[in-house]
Amino acid sequence: MTKIVEATAFLVDVEVETERTDAVQAFIKQETVFVELTTDDANTGIGYSYTIGTGGKAVLAMLREHLLPRLRGEDARSVEHLWHALFASTRATSVGAITSLALAAVDTALWDLRCRRAGEPLWRLAGGFSRRVPLYDTEGGWLNLSTEDLVSGALASQAAGWSGVKLKVGKPRIEQDVERLRAVRDAVGPGLDIMVDANQSMTHAEARRRAAAFEPIGLAWFEEPLPADDIEGHAALSRSTSIPIAVGESLYSAAHFREYLARGAASIVQVDVARIGGITPWLKVAHLAETFNVHVCPHFLMELHVSLVAAVPNGRYVEHIPQLRAITHGGLRIEDAHAVAPDVPGLGISWNPDAMDDRRVA
Ligand SMILES: [Mg+2]
Repeated sequence: MTKIVEATAFLVDVEVETERTDAVQAFIKQETVFVELTTDDANTGIGYSYTIGTGGKAVLAMLREHLLPRLRGEDARSVEHLWHALFASTRATSVGAITSLALAAVDTALWDLRCRRAGEPLWRLAGGFSRRVPLYDTEGGWLNLSTEDLVSGALASQAAGWSGVKLKVGKPRIEQDVERLRAVRDAVGPGLDIMVDANQSMTHAEARRRAAAFEPIGLAWFEEPLPADDIEGHAALSRSTSIPIAVGESLYSAAHFREYLARGAASIVQVDVARIGGITPWLKVAHLAETFNVHVCPHFLMELHVSLVAAVPNGRYVEHIPQLRAITHGGLRIEDAHAVAPDVPGLGISWNPDAMDDRRVA
């Protein structure tokens, strides 16, 4: 038995590095919720979760008042048992975003502990498929950027050897979206993946119209065209367009991915390790997608997702959005236009405790 003797949580606000807007929202700040676990053999694990600006204190309260007291005295090695015991203790608030985000902070701390005690990096202990994974850039594709900025960002990514760029869509008029996408495609030529992301902003009719207008541009995927709870809408849209439909960043239960996949409503799965409730359910979604011959291209959190994409055979892309530089040392390792999963025991994120203390709000 490796007994958990201490379990604490705290909240750190990390400022956004650049203005980031999409069709429905702005990224205000990263509310970063940390969990630190200590075991009776003097090991520690640090996990985390996040929001892009609302609800961080609700996640923290769920942890401090409900989940963490249940961990003390438990065996840290029994990660599946603990995930299910905690989930079962939250029936009044699950499935739900706040609960999933809180579970993720605990689960990632348990995986950090597991990897540290085993002396293995996450990417290997979680599966060990391929340490280097392709990157695509979102940081140059925000809706607030001008067409000129989109073009220069895409050209810079292409010059660096990256495989793709993602552009936000959902301007008021369809012609505005098309003009921006066409300018980028004309600048980069056919050899670069272009993804688009509508952030759930469209009606079904509008999504069909825009997909038809986007098709000649040659897109790698159309992300979150519709509200995330409209599975049938995504299935119908998938049948009506040749552009692969991508979903997942707004799903909080592994079973919801099963519904999307079984109904042919998603061709790319973007499971987010924080929103799904941690590494334990993330891996289940990735393996489920593999059985449907579907790639996993997780949402955001590149510092953690690099190890998970590297762990599984159907991991296709890591999304480049730097957001932890202010509170970490080192940052994401990029070599030959690929992200390289850390090879040190644990999650492989080098936290900066002083910088975290400076930004601690609760
Ligand atoms: Mg998105």
